[in-house]
Amino acid sequence: MKKRVILMGPPGGGKGTQAKSLTAAMHIPHISTGDMLRAARREGTELGKQADRYISAGQLVPDDLVNGIVAERLSSEKDGYLLDGYPRTIAQADALEAAGEKIDAVVLIDVPDELLVERIVNRESCGQCGAVYHKLTMPSKKPGVCDACGGALVQRADDNEKVVRDRLVAYHAQTQPLVDYYKSRGLLFHINGNAAVDVVFEEIRKALEF
Ligand code: AMP
Repeated sequence: MKKRVILMGPPGGGKGTQAKSLTAAMHIPHISTGDMLRAARREGTELGKQADRYISAGQLVPDDLVNGIVAERLSSEKDGYLLDGYPRTIAQADALEAAGEKIDAVVLIDVPDELLVERIVNRESCGQCGAVYHKLTMPSKKPGVCDACGGALVQRADDNEKVVRDRLVAYHAQTQPLVDYYKSRGLLFHINGNAAVDVVFEEIRKALEF
């Protein structure tokens, strides 16, 4: 089983949804830099304040800020992890390598741009446990309430059409170069994300051999 895993893909591509199922099945922690930055923002820390203006504008938070929180977190994870949304730049990938982290697999969940905007503007997530829903194709049983924990569902402020388009620009310019970076290291698994959630999960399961 491959236990140090990076999950890559465009915004709205299904990383968060797959990450929840994968980490439960593989018994490894889910480390999402987006979740960590949003938590810092809620807590009003200095990092949260600095990150907020980038997140709200659909831009990437500067590498040194993100590298700092990830390095601190990974130092305590010896038995594997799933990184969701990190690294997002070559500089972040270099920092991970320089820290001596030996990655077993990089899973790219690929979805065409034209489908992503529709997915994101219809997305809502639980403010408590982070479970993700789609208002039309994967709604919660009771509107506005999380099936998993009963928490209130909210729409992320950066999940609107204008910001999503900027996030896509950032993805193609800054994150997509990582595809070749990890392909050249023999670590990349390319998964078609334009399929049902359980079909995508099964493809990833096969790639990660668990
Ligand atoms: P996500 O929840 O992964 O979609 O991330 C939401 C936002 O948080 C992104 O649009 C970025 O502004 C910021 N962010 C999350 N992860 C990173 C990262 N690895 N590097 C830079 N910015 C990040």
